[in-house]
Amino acid sequence: SGLIVSFGEMLIDFVPTVSGVSLAEAPGFLKAPGGAPANVAIAVARLGGKAAFVGKLGDDEFGHMLAGILKENDVRADGINFDKGARTALAFVTLRADGEREFMFYRNPSADMLLTPEDLNLQLITSAKVFHYGSISLIVEPCRSAHLKAMEVAKEAGCLLSYDPNLRLPLWPSAEEARQQILSIWDKADVIKVSDVELEFLTGSDKIDDASALSLWHPNLKLLLVTLGEHGSRYYTKNFHGSVEAYHVNTVDTTGAGDSFVGALLCKIVDDQSILEDEPRLREVLKFANACGAITTTKKGAIPALPTEADALNLIEGA
Ligand code: ATP
Repeated sequence: SGLIVSFGEMLIDFVPTVSGVSLAEAPGFLKAPGGAPANVAIAVARLGGKAAFVGKLGDDEFGHMLAGILKENDVRADGINFDKGARTALAFVTLRADGEREFMFYRNPSADMLLTPEDLNLQLITSAKVFHYGSISLIVEPCRSAHLKAMEVAKEAGCLLSYDPNLRLPLWPSAEEARQQILSIWDKADVIKVSDVELEFLTGSDKIDDASALSLWHPNLKLLLVTLGEHGSRYYTKNFHGSVEAYHVNTVDTTGAGDSFVGALLCKIVDDQSILEDEPRLREVLKFANACGAITTTKKGAIPALPTEADALNLIEGA
């Protein structure tokens, strides 16, 4: 099957050993590898697809540990660079008792921010069928230029461009800057996935309805997706739109659900983009993606919880 290249950050989340505490109250932390683009690459590989990750890690124990995790999961690592001078990015993350996620990032700068256009493995990118990315790599130079160049090269090579903004507001200088920059590459993408929260943020509307979703439509877009957690997902194309229900599962940690959803979608369309114009087949694919997202919420952490194809089919058949 065709190669899916995922571009951006890979980092270590440090998550408290006990739940429902603030970062200050946490008695200790566990390492949880993450970074949305890396999660997407592993999601694809776990489902049996071909995936590569492109990005920069520190030339330190954590960076080599993360590269090892990609390789163990059958993700190609020949698009990874190691920075001699900067550390692998870290984030301390907790789900507080009030249900809010609290982040504290260590990026001063971290290696992922230092990827340059010259670092890019262009051969790898141009051999892809799908090129996937987020918006964190747009925040600072030189990574921003590397991101824009990789997108351009991928587009020229005929890749399908897939965009999941994955808003992390604390990383941006201001909310307005975040909105502007996230939207600055909007019309390059063929497929865009936003969450309900991102839809509200980007449109400035407090309604999550068809009108607000369609205000994010652009003429070159092939598919716009809005994910709604336990309420499933909505899809919009030039010719049709609708929604697909979520699966009921025992949710313990939603981290990575969106990445799992995206990985599943990309796996199913990489070799047959005509699905994007065929509503019944697209709905089948989105059911599969919803099932993958749901399964990812049933275990702690993103990567350990990503499903195989058999896991997803089991959930779908049992529903
Ligand atoms: P995250 O940022 O946490 O990775 P997201 O906000 O981008 O995720 P979600 O809407 O949380 O994306 O999840 C993606 C998909 O996974 C949803 O459309 C849904 O199908 C499934 N999903 C997520 N949470 C649940 C849940 N609690 N129960 C069932 N399915 C879920």
